[in-house]
Order: sequence, then C-alpha cells, then structure tokens
Amino acid sequence: MITLRPDYYDEFRCIADACRHTCCAGWEIDIDEDSMALYRDCPDIMCHIKDSSFILQGENERCPFLNDKGLCDLILKYGEDILCDVCTEHPRFYNYQDDKEYIGLGLCCEAACDLILGRQGEFRLIKGDISPEGEIFGSTPYDGLPFGIDEVNNHSGRISELVSSILPEDRGCEARAMAYLGLEHLESDWVDLLNAVRETPVVPDARDAYIDGNSREFRNLIIYFLYRHMGHRKIAAESVRLIAEIAVSSGLALAEVCRMYAAEIEYSDVNVDLIKE
Ligand code: SF4
Repeated sequence: MITLRPDYYDEFRCIADACRHTCCAGWEIDIDEDSMALYRDCPDIMCHIKDSSFILQGENERCPFLNDKGLCDLILKYGEDILCDVCTEHPRFYNYQDDKEYIGLGLCCEAACDLILGRQGEFRLIKGDISPEGEIFGSTPYDGLPFGIDEVNNHSGRISELVSSILPEDRGCEARAMAYLGLEHLESDWVDLLNAVRETPVVPDARDAYIDGNSREFRNLIIYFLYRHMGHRKIAAESVRLIAEIAVSSGLALAEVCRMYAAEIEYSDVNVDLIKE
C-alpha cells in the first residue's frame, strides 16, 4: 500500500480556542470501542456518555468537555491520547483505490480550509509510510497525479472555463439551489442561504466573474473536490458553482461558505451520493 497526501498536509495545526466554528459542537461523536474501554475506568468521563456518544449540551450542542476557553478538558486532564478516534482524526479523510491510500484534510475545518484555499503553486502529492499505529512518516515527492488533477494544474485560461470543461452546465442557479434544498441539512442558516439563491438567482456572468476574481482559491477548490471525491467531476463542478453563487448572493467570505458547504454536504454519505447521481 502506497500512502499519499497533499504536500500541505503536514502544515495542519488545530487552532483550538482561536477556532470560530469549533468541531467540538454541533456534531454527534460516536466513540470507538477501544476508547470506550479506556473511558469505562474514568467515571468523570462515563457520566457524559450515553449509547457510546458524548451527551451534547445546550442549544449549540457542545461537547461536554469543551470548556469556556474553547479548549478540551479531556486533553487538559489526560493528554491527547485520551481522545477517541473521531476526535483524533478530524478533519482528516482517507480514500483507497487500487494499491494506494489517499489521505487529506477536510474543508469543514477552518484551519484546514485556510490551508487548502490559500495554497500557492501547483498541487503536489507526497509519499510516506504509515506505521501500524497510524503515524505517517517519510516525505518523498510523488510523480504523477490521480483523478484528473493534472488537467487543473495545467489549465492556463480562466477558471470559470475550466469548471465548464469539467462539467458543462445543464441547470441554472435556481434549479441547483432547489436540488441542494432536497438534501439532508444540519443548520437552518444553510437552508436560508439556499433559499436566498433560489429566490434571487445569481446570473452566470456574476458567478463566473467571482470565480475568475478568486482564481487561485477556486483552482484549489476544484482540486480539493477532485481529490476528496476521487475524480468525481460532477461533485467538483457543481460544488464550486454553488459555493460561488452563495458567496455572491450572501456576501459571506468564501472560506466561510466553503466550510458550511463541507459540513452540510461532505459529512453525509446520503448527500454525497445524491449529488453524484
Ligand atoms: S474545526 Fe479544525 S481548527 Fe477548529 S477546533 Fe476543530 S480541528 Fe481545530
């Protein structure tokens, strides 16, 4: 098995208490068996667990161990090794094809999002080994890119044209918003954004001008979606179009729209499968 990762992967650091949208709220956390075995010896942890999940608190569904300073009380008391798999791994993802493992960082984490959008230069993969404990070591440049990423790296024209070449547009902004409104949702804010673009659609010229005005970020976004979804062109093109339309419609920062999009769509296998259809 060859393990590959983007060359910015090792720069990722959780920004913890500086994170405005902590992953320690709003998500149900399923605790793996090994961690449950560890927690059974800790009554102060077990009292916050039900059905192998942390009991979320309050309107914002905060993890019971997320303290008022935005730090994790579990780490502060026991160290990082106490974390369950979900907390340890977030925001990483793992894909497999043939004899290769493709590791990456998910866009729903704002620290990862900044790394992904802000990347300078061509996307590159590096090769490393993975220990039985999951630790990655070794950084050998890897020649060749999977999933059609070469096409994006080599594209010299406008990025909006690249999006069209990845998947010609066969529906407008309103129809796209309607399709996304038919998916599962986490936050009412996301539904409000979709309804806004449904009611007042963004015209293609305005959307494409926004994409071309933020060409580095959108090139990086297309590559991110191709890499994360193993070359699925429809997800790459439609995700980028909707993100641009919502950013134009709402005036929100691009990174914020990307983070919301990933949280709403990419953590639901049902949603991802529906978009692929
Ligand atoms: S979303 Fe990312 S930066 Fe924020 S707390 Fe989670 S891992 Fe850290």
